Amino acid sequence: MKINHNFDNLVPNYLFADIAKKSSEYAAAHPDKPLIRMGIGDVTLPLPKVAVDALKKGAEDLAHKESFKGYPDYEGYDFVREAISKYYASFGVTVSADEILVTDGAKGDSANLSEIFSQDSVVLVTDPVYPVYVDSNIMAGRKILYAPSNEENGFCAAPDESVHADLIYLCSPNNPTGAAFSKDQLKAWVDYANKEDAVIIYDAAYEHFIVDDSPRSIFAIEGARTCAIEICSMSKTAGFTGTRGGYTVIPKELVRDGHNIYDLWYRRLSTKYNGVSWPVQCAIAAIFSEQGMAEIDDNINYYRENASTIMATLDKLGIEYTGGKNSPYVWMKCPKGMGSWEFFDYILEEIQVVGTPGEGFGDCGKGWFRFTSFGSHENTVEAMKRMEKLLG
Ligand SMILES: *Cc1c(COP(=O)(O)O)cnc(C)c1O
Repeated sequence: MKINHNFDNLVPNYLFADIAKKSSEYAAAHPDKPLIRMGIGDVTLPLPKVAVDALKKGAEDLAHKESFKGYPDYEGYDFVREAISKYYASFGVTVSADEILVTDGAKGDSANLSEIFSQDSVVLVTDPVYPVYVDSNIMAGRKILYAPSNEENGFCAAPDESVHADLIYLCSPNNPTGAAFSKDQLKAWVDYANKEDAVIIYDAAYEHFIVDDSPRSIFAIEGARTCAIEICSMSKTAGFTGTRGGYTVIPKELVRDGHNIYDLWYRRLSTKYNGVSWPVQCAIAAIFSEQGMAEIDDNINYYRENASTIMATLDKLGIEYTGGKNSPYVWMKCPKGMGSWEFFDYILEEIQVVGTPGEGFGDCGKGWFRFTSFGSHENTVEAMKRMEKLLG
């Protein structure tokens, strides 16, 4: 027998392993100099109380014959999908509950949705990129094209009309660059996708971080309902990285190759998936209550203050960056023409601060560096003090 040899085409991604190795080696050699970790891509604040209460109540329901729940609906319970539909309406986007599918998070759907499209589909991603979109398509043996996101376009790539694509992955606000598409920029992608008969898989995992008039959903754009699927996550906005919860939206009028895309995805889900547990669905619905929204806003504001601290320091130092405003990520240009890894080593050794080298996310990340705002205020303030002293 043979394995799936597409796996041979995966480029080993040592980014986080290399960061961990360099950091732990430094820490072992300098036990007197504790590191400040500004590279973490995981949240650090605990779950909102409304979610914990809902999880407890959901667990209690399972303990009694009258309230016990077995297999859930594949697409999620009605009341959860209704709550999500109302959430979209709160920022002016109409998505009906029967176009929403509750999931165990955005990573799975972003990796699996391509299964319903032909193996010959030409995939287009931006560079730098969240690695899941690339690796999942390499595993499927697909050809991948890259749209450069760089300093010239403000890390918001535009479609190249001379290139055809079938499946397009967009992430806004972006991980890793923190840049968010404007309405016009996103409209250009929607028009391109409709013209090319392509489908956009739109990752809105960070939509709740948006503070300006950047679109919170691709469905805020005219024409998106005939070309886009949106995936979203409770992970970064509500602290669900370990609890697991998200949702995917597929408009009923999205049709390709004579097939309804929602129906195909539903068929695929019901074959390979048995849904999200009752306590977690209760917790997801609780987040979309008034109290839930207030609690997640408090948590997000805590991270926003960290991002502001980082941005204020970079402004003072005259260092260019994107993100921070609509995103927990700040993406900075390495000073003095340094490379990503050169800057990583420099601040590790000089000020014991750890971040993420941008080139780990693609060629266009060379010479750029990512800080996250998911740490504590104390550590963020201290790290930025040290940055000012070192580079000021
Ligand atoms: C963190 C993250 C996700 C979240 O994935 P989950 O499976 O919901 O935890 C999705 N997309 C991007 C770009 C992310 O950074």
